[in-house]
Amino acid sequence: MSKKLIDAEETIRNIIIAAPREPDEAIRATASAIVVIENMPPAQPERGHWFNPLGDFAPYRCSRCGHYSDSKTPFCAHCGAAMREEKNVHYDNHSS
Ligand SMILES: [Zn+2]
Repeated sequence: MSKKLIDAEETIRNIIIAAPREPDEAIRATASAIVVIENMPPAQPERGHWFNPLGDFAPYRCSRCGHYSDSKTPFCAHCGAAMREEKNVHYDNHSS
């Protein structure tokens, strides 16, 4: 399973909506799941960069997932990677 950034508050709201109202064990299990989510550290987004092997113009391509973008957005809309600006970017898969 790949890393996925999610909205914890929205996740908890949806769990509460979907949770069984009985028996008591199910209610306790739901409460435990909510506590686990509330205590999770924030996920650190993967890092990537926009590149175009032909030059510094659109379409740009995400170095992590290959998604195309018309602009250099701070995050890849497809994989959520945090994009950094790089000089002399070339096609590779280095993640650091
Ligand atoms: Zn991406």
